[in-house]
Amino acid sequence: MEKVDITIIGAGVVGLAIAANVSEKSRNVLVVEKHESFGQETSSRNSEVIHASIYYPKNSLKGKLCLEGNELLYELCKKYKISHKNTGKLIVAVNDEDEALLPDLLDTAMNNGAKGVRIISKDEVKKLEPNVEAKAAIHCPTSGIVDSHSLMRHYEAMAIEKGANVIYGIEVDSIDKTGEGYNVGYKDRNGEKGIFNTRIIINCAGLESGNISELAGINQDEAGYRIQRCKGIYFRVTHGIEKFPKMLIYPVPPINGHVGIHTTPDLGGGMRLGPHFYWTDETDYNVDGSFKEYFFNSARQFLSFLKIEDIQPDIAGFYPTRQKPGEGLIDFVIKHEKERGLDNFINLVGIESPGLTASPAIGRYVKGMIEEIDNGK
Ligand SMILES: Cc1cc2nc3c(=O)[nH]c(=O)nc-3n(C[C@H](O)[C@H](O)[C@H](O)COP(=O)(O)OP(=O)(O)OC[C@H]3O[C@@H](n4cnc5c(N)ncnc54)[C@H](O)[C@@H]3O)c2cc1C
Repeated sequence: MEKVDITIIGAGVVGLAIAANVSEKSRNVLVVEKHESFGQETSSRNSEVIHASIYYPKNSLKGKLCLEGNELLYELCKKYKISHKNTGKLIVAVNDEDEALLPDLLDTAMNNGAKGVRIISKDEVKKLEPNVEAKAAIHCPTSGIVDSHSLMRHYEAMAIEKGANVIYGIEVDSIDKTGEGYNVGYKDRNGEKGIFNTRIIINCAGLESGNISELAGINQDEAGYRIQRCKGIYFRVTHGIEKFPKMLIYPVPPINGHVGIHTTPDLGGGMRLGPHFYWTDETDYNVDGSFKEYFFNSARQFLSFLKIEDIQPDIAGFYPTRQKPGEGLIDFVIKHEKERGLDNFINLVGIESPGLTASPAIGRYVKGMIEEIDNGK
């Protein structure tokens, strides 16, 4: 049976960032992905925002890895010429109630270490963004946008250069613990079955991460690893490009950890609105056009130039979240599952937002976990 040292399940931005960090010429690292290319699921269906770590609880993995990821991502993008823009972001108060919430939000952001955040007046907002209406705002200078496809292409190239194999069209369908690691069963694109042995598994299967945990013998409901169906949809603004804000414009306050319908300028000069999220049993990526009025009314509060006929359904994505309807914000799981008797099984479950921003920091963090395994800790 073929043997590999490290198997990474999933070639989204997280699996590829980890592959880029842990691969070495002397190691046999394998990335397996069920689709025919990388990033076909959540990693290409998001806002592409480089977050500043404003909303996450201080000692959470989300907060820590977002903050580190923000800095690492800008460094990486500059060094390797990955398309990105440090646009900055405004969280805009459109009424007195919103304005009253700004000081608390600023405190949270400062406690989380978000750099350079401050409250700015209506006049300052107008100077920065003449077409945005606000009574006041929080200015976050370290927010930005990144081309997620270019980022994943970079991680993949880096992993391959360091000796990793990235194989597409392979769907993992069984995991059995053996004396020397795990036997991993799979189905290829022609439905042919195969099996190989690996010393270490890193589960980066996104929406399937709970199910992959279950394949390894973890009861996902007892562990709190079941991924819920939470859909985020976007609309695109099709006219009025000369009025589009250059910065990211977010409403206040966030709801249940979600940041609300915001503007995302894209690197080509266009602009999307979203995401609006809702719990659903749907599994398709269609965008229901009947949400148009809701999007218009939400964004119109701070973009008075918007016309309803100028917004059209765009993309949708599913949050790979463990959070159930009605629950508050819940943290990433990044864990060596040795306490469950699964030595050398590293589990990443519920890597929702800010997973894209945090990806270089997650890569570094998991590399540290592999070093601990290698040192027998
Ligand atoms: C609407 C929305 C907006 C977001 N906005 C932002 C944002 O602005 N900024 C930010 O930082 N983050 C954002 N995020 C979060 C970010 O997109 C995710 O955290 C990130 O993409 C997760 O990457 P991943 O690699 O873990 O998952 P995925 O991209 O889902 O990759 C997992 C991969 O595993 C593969 N896989 C699954 N099962 C198997 C199997 N059995 N065998 C082989 N392969 C398998 C899948 O095919 C998939 O390619 C957003 C998310 C959503 C949904």
